[in-house]
Amino acid sequence: MKKSVCVVCKKEKKGSKIEDDIYLDTLRRIKNKLNIAKNNTLVVCDDCLPKAREKRRRFERTLAMWALLATLMFVMLVAMSPTLESVFLGLVAVVIFVLFSLVLYFPRVEEHGGKKGGSKGR
Ligand SMILES: [Zn+2]
Repeated sequence: MKKSVCVVCKKEKKGSKIEDDIYLDTLRRIKNKLNIAKNNTLVVCDDCLPKAREKRRRFERTLAMWALLATLMFVMLVAMSPTLESVFLGLVAVVIFVLFSLVLYFPRVEEHGGKKGGSKGR
């Protein structure tokens, strides 16, 4: 039987499921290859729900910021010297920026109710 494990406190608990996305999918595939996949169901327990939402928000903000920086840098590099080399360098920079943002990666928690946001939106 599959165990459900909270991604925040790492305890075996029941809770809200997290949404699968490309990062989780990739991670799982790598783990399967390395044979270290535990096949647990990943959830966020009720106690950790506020924390999980905050982590996700932070990740989304960071990702948006890095994406903007990466785009700016790419455009600048190519504008300064429109050669194949700087296009390549720009792409490398973009990849590095994206990798940086992944350090903060946190999956989205599946919401049960249909409500979005909340009253104290920041
Ligand atoms: Zn938890």
